[in-house]
Amino acid sequence: MSESATAAAPARIPHWIDGAPSDPEGSRLGPVYDPALGVRTASVVLAGPDDVERAVAAAARAFPAWSALSMARRQAILFRFRELLNARKDELAEVITAQHGKVLSDALGEIARGQEVLEFALGFPEILKGAFSRNVSSGVDVHSFREPLGVTAIVSPFNFPAMVPMWFFPVALAAGNTVVLKPSEKDPSAALWLAALLGEAGLPDGVFNVVQGDKEAVDALLEHPGVASVSFVGSTPIAASLYERAARAGKRVQALGGAKNHMLVLPDADLDLVADAAVNAGFGSAGERCMAVSVVVAVEPGADALVEGITARMAKLRTGDGRRGCDMGPLVTREHRDKVASYIDLARRDGASVVVDGRTVEPDGAPEGFWLGPTLIDRVPVTSKVYTEEIFGPVLSVVRVTSYEDGVALVNSGAFGNGTAIFTNDGGAARRFQSEVQVGMIGVNVPIPVPVAYHSFGGWKASAFGDTKAYGTQGFHFFTREKAVTTRWPDPSHGGIDLGFPRSE
Ligand code: NAD
Repeated sequence: MSESATAAAPARIPHWIDGAPSDPEGSRLGPVYDPALGVRTASVVLAGPDDVERAVAAAARAFPAWSALSMARRQAILFRFRELLNARKDELAEVITAQHGKVLSDALGEIARGQEVLEFALGFPEILKGAFSRNVSSGVDVHSFREPLGVTAIVSPFNFPAMVPMWFFPVALAAGNTVVLKPSEKDPSAALWLAALLGEAGLPDGVFNVVQGDKEAVDALLEHPGVASVSFVGSTPIAASLYERAARAGKRVQALGGAKNHMLVLPDADLDLVADAAVNAGFGSAGERCMAVSVVVAVEPGADALVEGITARMAKLRTGDGRRGCDMGPLVTREHRDKVASYIDLARRDGASVVVDGRTVEPDGAPEGFWLGPTLIDRVPVTSKVYTEEIFGPVLSVVRVTSYEDGVALVNSGAFGNGTAIFTNDGGAARRFQSEVQVGMIGVNVPIPVPVAYHSFGGWKASAFGDTKAYGTQGFHFFTREKAVTTRWPDPSHGGIDLGFPRSE
C-alpha cells in the first residue's frame, strides 16, 4: 500500500440503515483498495452488534407495511428500480471495477445476470398465486398461499459484489420480506450504490439495509432472534459453519460454498472450441468465479494439441487495468494474489509442468497493482494441493486421463460439486455424463453453466449446504412459507357430534 494513499485519510464507506447512510463514530475500519492501482482508496466501517441491531430493528419496523403493500405497488417500485438500474449500470460497473478489479465488460456482465433475476422476480404475482382445491370433502374447500418470512439476511462474497446480492434480494423483496445485506468488506460500495438506487425507486425506508463488516457483523446477524433467514455465499469452511450455527438458532438457511470445476474433454471434441472455452472460463474475472473452470480433464489422445491451443490463446490475453479495455484485471488483494501465486511453485515441487507462469506478466497498469497473469499447469498430480484445493485465481490445471470413465471418476472424486462441463460431439456420452456426475450444474459444450434466472443456482456436496437453491422458483420457496386453509361454510346439513379424526367424505 502506498504511504501517500493512507496519509490522505481515505473516504469512509458507511452502512445504509433505515433509508440513509450511517457512519457511527468510533467504528472499526477496514481497508478498501483499488486492485489495479495497488493503493488503499477508502475505509469501510465495520459493524458491531449495535449496528446490526439498528439495521434489524429498521427492517423489522418496515416489515408490516411492506408485506401488506399490494402486489401491484411492490411490483411498481421494483420495476422502477429495474429501469433506473438499466439506465445507470455503467456507473455501477465503474464502482465494481474500482474495488474488485474485474474489467468493465465483465462488471457489466455480472450486472446483467443480476438484472435477469430482478426481471424474473417481477413476475412474482404468478409464482405466489397459491393453490385451490374445491370440494375436497362435502362442502369443504382447501386453499394454500405463501407468506414472507420477515427480516431476511444476505451475506455475500467479494467476487460478485452486485450479482450475488441480486440473486437474493429481488426475490426476497418481491415476496414481501425486508432485507439486511452484509456485503464483502473487500468491495463494499456496490451494495451501498444499490441501496441508494432502491431508495430512489421509491422503496420505503428500512425495507433494504446494508451493514458493512466482517465476521463480527455476521455473528451478530446469526445470533439475532429477529432475523428469520440467512442466505450466504462464500468459501466452504465458512458456509459449513454458518449453516450449522444458523440452523441451530432456528433460522432458515441456504449456504453456497466454494468450488473446483472440471471440464471433461473427450477426444472427438472440436479442440478449437474447447481451447476458446477453457481460456474464457479459466481466466475470465481472473479466475475469481465460483463457476470458473479450474481443471481441464483431457481424455487422451488430444491433450498435447489442447494444451498447445490454450497456450496460443493465452499469449494474446492482455492483463491490466479493467478501465483500459484489457481482457483480465488484477486479483482482489495483494494477500490473495500472493496466495494464488504460491501454487505455481507448489506445482513445480509436486512434479507438474508449468507451461505458462503468470508471474512474468507485463500488465497494462500501475506497477503496484495486484497482478498475476494467466497461468497454465499441465500434468497436475491429483494428490497435489494445486488439484485438491480451490485456488480462486487465474491458474488453470490440466489433468490427463485415458478414458471417459476415468474422467468421470475424477470429477466425482473431489469434495466440491458446483459446476462441470463435458465437451464432445457424442450425444450418448453427454447424456451419460449428465446422470453420472455428482454435480449440481452441468454444461454440455457450455463451460460456465450458470442457470438462467427462471431455473435455480446451486451446487452439490461441499459447494452448497441446505436444500434450497438461489433464485428461480426455489428462491421464492426459500423466502416464503406456506399456509394451507381448510374451509367449510355453515350449511343446513352440518352439525352433530363426532370425535373421530376428520376424513374426506
Ligand atoms: P469468504 O468466505 O471469505 O467471505 C464470504 C462472506 O463471509 C463475506 O461477506 C465475509 O465478510 C464473510 N466472512 C468472512 N469470514 C467470516 C467468518 N469467519 N464468519 C462469518 N462470516 C465471515 O469468501 P470470499 O473470499 O469473499 O469469496 C470467495 C469464495 O466464495 C470462494 O470460495 C468462491 O468459490 C465462493 N463463491 C461461491 C459461489 C457459489 O455460488 N457457490 C459464488 C460466489 C463465490
